[in-house]
Amino acid sequence: MGGTRKPYIAANWKMNLDRTRAMDLVKTLKARIGDGDDREVAVFPPALYLADVAAVAQGSPVGLGAQNLHWEEEGAFTGEISAPMLRDISVDRVLIGHSERRRIFFEKNEWMGRKVRAALDHDLLPILCVGETLEERRAGDLEAVIHGQLEAGFDWVREEEAPRITLAYEPVWAIGTGETATPSQANEVHALIRAWLAVKFPGGEVAASLRILYGGSVKPDNAGALMAQPEIDGLLVGGASLKAETFLPIVEFDR
Ligand code: PEP
Repeated sequence: MGGTRKPYIAANWKMNLDRTRAMDLVKTLKARIGDGDDREVAVFPPALYLADVAAVAQGSPVGLGAQNLHWEEEGAFTGEISAPMLRDISVDRVLIGHSERRRIFFEKNEWMGRKVRAALDHDLLPILCVGETLEERRAGDLEAVIHGQLEAGFDWVREEEAPRITLAYEPVWAIGTGETATPSQANEVHALIRAWLAVKFPGGEVAASLRILYGGSVKPDNAGALMAQPEIDGLLVGGASLKAETFLPIVEFDR
């Protein structure tokens, strides 16, 4: 956890929970996190429940995000949701480039810049996800893959707006597999990402302020060790974010 960067714990619910359980979980979270001064907490429910969850989260510091968006504002894009539509129901952030979107739904790396642009243009805070597969890591391509994903995602980002972006490093081999990158393995890649940012935005301010979350089988028993790493500023949590018993101890990793 580095310097002045506020810890950020994000819950990616994927295609899980139902309406009642989603609302109950946010109620519990809201009651527990207080004023949210010392950490940022956000949930990313299935799109269908966003409006209901927004009503429950209202007046609390719990952030509310979508799991994806389309870069156009409207049009013939069956099944898609635009940034203005998300803003319309009080959503304030969005995941972009999650590895499940890239791998299962064949979303192209080159789309990510347009999605990040759309989010920034409509005042949504993006979490841009990057990460390598096991084959890519074994082939020695980790750095090239991460750099390629960062280049695409930051294609149309101006230096002054870059701090509104959060990055998530999620090694594909660690997502939903029970296998976690070791804290030092994760820290190493986070450092590599920060070095890339320092080259892309030479002022140094972006590299110092932008938060990089780790995601991949985060659990109550590994959250503290991951967060103790200097380059890990937060956690993107899938499976363990679906129940208060496992998510709250992660949110309270240092208590
Ligand atoms: C994720 O979906 O972003 C994720 C990290 O999932 P899990 O925690 O289940 O590995």
